[in-house]
Amino acid sequence: MSHTPNDITPHVITLAPGDGIGPEITRAVCSILDAAQCPIRYEEVEVGEKAYLAGHSSGITPEAWTVLRKNPVLLKGPITTPQGSGYKSLNVTLRKTLGLFANVRPCRTYHPFVATRHPGMDVVVIRENEEDLYAGIEHRQTVDTFQCLKLVTLPGTEKIVRYAFDYASANGRRKVTCLVKDNIMKLTDGLFADTFRRIGAEYPDLVKEVQIIDIGTARVAVQPERYDVIVTLNLYGDIISDVTAELTGSVGLAGSANIGERISMFEAIHGSAPDIAGHDKANPTAMLQSAVMMLVHLGLAKHAELVQNALLCTLEDGIHTVDIYREGVSTQLAGTQAFAQAVIERLGRQPTKLPTAAFQSAAAKPYVYERPAVRRELCGVDFFVCSADKSPDALAAALQAATSGVLQLKLVTNRGVKVWPEGFPETFCTDHWRCRFVSPAMNPAEEPLAYPPIEASRIPEALAKLHAAGIEVVKTENLYLFDGKRGFSLGQGE
Ligand code: NAD
Repeated sequence: MSHTPNDITPHVITLAPGDGIGPEITRAVCSILDAAQCPIRYEEVEVGEKAYLAGHSSGITPEAWTVLRKNPVLLKGPITTPQGSGYKSLNVTLRKTLGLFANVRPCRTYHPFVATRHPGMDVVVIRENEEDLYAGIEHRQTVDTFQCLKLVTLPGTEKIVRYAFDYASANGRRKVTCLVKDNIMKLTDGLFADTFRRIGAEYPDLVKEVQIIDIGTARVAVQPERYDVIVTLNLYGDIISDVTAELTGSVGLAGSANIGERISMFEAIHGSAPDIAGHDKANPTAMLQSAVMMLVHLGLAKHAELVQNALLCTLEDGIHTVDIYREGVSTQLAGTQAFAQAVIERLGRQPTKLPTAAFQSAAAKPYVYERPAVRRELCGVDFFVCSADKSPDALAAALQAATSGVLQLKLVTNRGVKVWPEGFPETFCTDHWRCRFVSPAMNPAEEPLAYPPIEASRIPEALAKLHAAGIEVVKTENLYLFDGKRGFSLGQGE
């Protein structure tokens, strides 16, 4: 069988079949790619349960790392993470170690061939994959208070936003929606929204919109057909991409890509489905969709179209695995391998009702970060204090007495709410206080408020005085002005 010319040097890719249904769907997918004469050679590695149980806490052996780092692409089956503590998520390890900054999850429906409430849905969620609350920096600071650090960077944000616009342009999409919570997180989510607006101006042909994540998620759940490409931060993307995947009808349908600058990983969104493993029941579509994304990524758009169109023909012909089988619509209940065989038999055909697949492989544009020249001035410090036995006024008096002449106490908040000066007795207080200190030269009554600079040495000096006064500082956070603009939020009521 020859559908495409095959005079291209093969791409060597890493193949990790994974656990549970992983090996079955991997076999099915590879048989289709081979039949489509995709110029690909596989180097197989073992990741997942066996590696975990052999004592590799991240589910990957040193040998697998060597292969993985050599090849540009990893096609990965789902893996089983053993129960119990001490096992680290392989996916998180791969994302962070390999710098897989973009998670791309297309979710579309195949109406009327696969049951769905949203016939017109065709959404791609592009999620930032390395930053945000997933940086995994957590601390318990006091008996009452636990903290998780939300890190959002300028280069990380530029990279994902630009990727989303480039993806939309290369794939014939018309709209990109940015989902953020910048009404509350003005600095972090504000940076994401501002970057979206700034970079979006370079893409005049695309419609751009910014929505607040809460109402955005509600709308995605009810009217997913309103959305085209969505770009968002890590945590929101994690949630919203599960919402969109669920709306398509089966977890067995959606693939995903984790894009890095040097290495990228492609995998189904579902897990290893131990309940059906070994029964030839699993739907290989999701992994096949991941493989199609991989082909486009490798510059093999024509092979990707060949495979995708054969898949669409198979679904149109009613040849369905058990997860999407419906009396009256389906014509044949197929096992995993029979489904793959049906796709192979349809290579070269075009779908008649579902839209024909047309892909374009766009060469990845390397991202070069140019750190802006910004003047940074230290203008204060937030000391986070652990204190369980003082009222806000008593604590403020103790802080003022200890730091007199070094720094000026401007405000005290508890869980972000101002409790001094002029707090409300109704405010519930924990043992964790944010105490904001500024220059003694600052006039807190001035309009607009100016923050005079302070010398860095004032901070350890004040810390030493607080320590000597028996006040326990659990964390310090410097306050900076960037080109004169506040690089910190105000306390509620400040
Ligand atoms: P799951 O996605 O494996 O299964 C959920 C349900 O969907 C099950 O009923 C299953 O039979 C069905 N299902 C999943 N894939 C299917 C397919 N291709 N065709 C037909 N039906 C399919 O989720 P789970 O049961 O919560 O997790 C099982 C294991 O997978 C766990 O160990 C989990 O940690 C792991 N997991 C791995 C990944 C990954 O490797 N990327 C992702 C999610 C879960």
